[in-house]
Amino acid sequence: MSKIKTAFFCQNCGYESVKWVGQCPSCGQWNTFVEELIQKDSKKNDNGWSDYHPGTRNSRTISLSQIKSNEDRRLLTSDSELNRVLGGGVIPGSLVLVAGEPGIGKSTLFLQNGLLLKDVTVLYISGEESEQQIKMRADRLQSYSLTGNTENFYLLTETSTQVIFQEIKKLKPQLVIVDSIQTLQTTFIDSSPGSVSQIRECAAEFQRFAKETGTPVFLIGHITKDGSIAGPKILEHMVDTVLQFEGDRHYAYRVLRTLKNRFGSTAELGIYEMTDQGMRAVLNPSEILITQKEDQLSGIAIAATIEGLRPLLIEVQALVTQSVYGTPQRTVSGFDLRRLQSLLAVLEKRGGFHFGIKDVFLNIAGGIKVEDPSTDLAVLCALLSSYEDTPLPHHICFAGEVGLSGEIRAVNRIEQRVAEAEKLGFEKIIVSKYNPKGLSRQKTGIEMLAMGRVEEVYKYLF
Ligand SMILES: [Zn+2]
Repeated sequence: MSKIKTAFFCQNCGYESVKWVGQCPSCGQWNTFVEELIQKDSKKNDNGWSDYHPGTRNSRTISLSQIKSNEDRRLLTSDSELNRVLGGGVIPGSLVLVAGEPGIGKSTLFLQNGLLLKDVTVLYISGEESEQQIKMRADRLQSYSLTGNTENFYLLTETSTQVIFQEIKKLKPQLVIVDSIQTLQTTFIDSSPGSVSQIRECAAEFQRFAKETGTPVFLIGHITKDGSIAGPKILEHMVDTVLQFEGDRHYAYRVLRTLKNRFGSTAELGIYEMTDQGMRAVLNPSEILITQKEDQLSGIAIAATIEGLRPLLIEVQALVTQSVYGTPQRTVSGFDLRRLQSLLAVLEKRGGFHFGIKDVFLNIAGGIKVEDPSTDLAVLCALLSSYEDTPLPHHICFAGEVGLSGEIRAVNRIEQRVAEAEKLGFEKIIVSKYNPKGLSRQKTGIEMLAMGRVEEVYKYLF
């Protein structure tokens, strides 16, 4: 017989405790512990995935040279952005978590990719939508109606892992997509779907399935903006790859970012445009992220950044106005607020600008979030341009990190940034004078202006 047992789980990070505690010892959050029923079944191995191939798993020592590399068996999807973030295609037997806020387009992206995989049996498991809803969604995807895979694409609307694995045994799919992990439940655990213990156990069953059969599995998981809903966070260490799908719901652009990858680089990035016919991979993102207007406006500067492994030109917009209230406001979108505050402090202290009595608004165009510190210089110039109410010169862009003493620091992979700026028709790029000089002697169509301090940049621009 089974023994009923309860435990307390931190809903933020999944930390398990036998008694309730106010503050999580693992992640430090307050009031995150919730009691969940766990039914400890002694016949655990008869549940879920494990009864599929009893005894076929041979755990024994093996010479490294006998192990076949999975590299050459990567499954290439028709989505070049997805292949890129996965490190060059889907590895057999890999468990991939796709995390993102609800409604951002995770289901659309993976439904679309499943439909576009020709000659591969795909099983799409949905615990959220009915067959009719998914069919309607699929019909809307233009790519599907053009090159659709209707014979090899199977749909299962089910939330019980027991039923799911029975179906999997019959179908033997070559790729499984689960939408979403929060809706699944296993009978082994008694708590409700979406609770920490359920999510963890269901994911563990899919992990065993993936490893034993070599079938890649994509688990879709929802997070909220502050990451407070249990789920993806606690799965991060269980899966091979974590992809984060992000973007502002009000913008068309979406970024698929690799947060963890056992089979490739974590510095990868895919960019999509959400259209009414599905997600369209954006192959040349710089062109759409910059508004190319002929009349110059103040407060706009272009940064030559590297996002992931590729160069990306983005538009930084700043608005500096007289502060109406006692405390000046600082509002940012797509950029780190503390980074902005330190840049304002540099301008105040080193340049003598009085931002202390100004409201400052900063926005990265397109709803993109930037992490590259080389954006600093463009942010600073956008701020100055709005402060002075003077547009920056035509066709100029920036790549430099700004230090606290006002020095412009060198940034990595400057060649790529310069090449991208040149490709997009920029005539000048301001970089740090500490970046290697060799490049400026190359015959390029773009003029490189190497500067060492913020004051020099100011003098040049205004
Ligand atoms: Zn915690």
